[in-house]
Amino acid sequence: MRARNKPWADDYLKENKEIVELSPSEYKNKWNTVFKNNNPIHLEIGTGKGQFVAGMAKQYSDVNFVGMELAKSIIVSAVQKVSDSNQENVRLINEDANDLSEFFGENEVEKIYLNFSDPWPKARHAKRRLTFKNFLEQYENILNSNGELILKTDNRGLFEFSLVSFSQYGMILEEVLLDLHDQADPTNIMTEYEEKFSGIGQPIYRCKARFQK
Ligand code: SAM
Repeated sequence: MRARNKPWADDYLKENKEIVELSPSEYKNKWNTVFKNNNPIHLEIGTGKGQFVAGMAKQYSDVNFVGMELAKSIIVSAVQKVSDSNQENVRLINEDANDLSEFFGENEVEKIYLNFSDPWPKARHAKRRLTFKNFLEQYENILNSNGELILKTDNRGLFEFSLVSFSQYGMILEEVLLDLHDQADPTNIMTEYEEKFSGIGQPIYRCKARFQK
């Protein structure tokens, strides 16, 4: 996802401190104090413009959601969406998944969502894929024993790579769907990319996997 540089983005994030956690490492092991309850924490990595995280927060008011997005020029749209939704159970962080362990403690998270992650199709970029084993090590560390990793994508190459990566890591595959929209799942919240690609007839793949803890 590319977006034009937005010079006002820094100020905008600072003005929306009730939605954007500007120093998220301070909350490692303490996210329950941010939300002021002990509800489970679900994390979306690569939140984009925020439709999924805002929609999920509305659908599951007894879950706390954190949306992590690397690009400042994109996260500003997610801030706007969360602000419009008036949900108190969602926060955004403008951070890189490479540094995940700085922001979440061991077992602090119940679910991780990877929605339409960048596929990095060149073999020499495989390490950048969010389902490469180095990322899985971090996910395993922060997910609790009920923890689940849920991947949605339109990209067959990334999907196949991820299934192999999960299996090689020893994860348990709980669901593998080759056409999510072919099955009725009333709980599915669509992301911006999902709307775009399913709208032009692309199948959407979904996998749910867990670590053996
Ligand atoms: N999830 C959204 C959707 O489905 O509409 C956006 C998908 S877009 C293809 C991928 C997003 O992941 C981009 O906004 C990108 O900036 C973000 N991203 C990529 N690598 C990331 C990383 N290492 N940490 C956090 N966000 C990342």
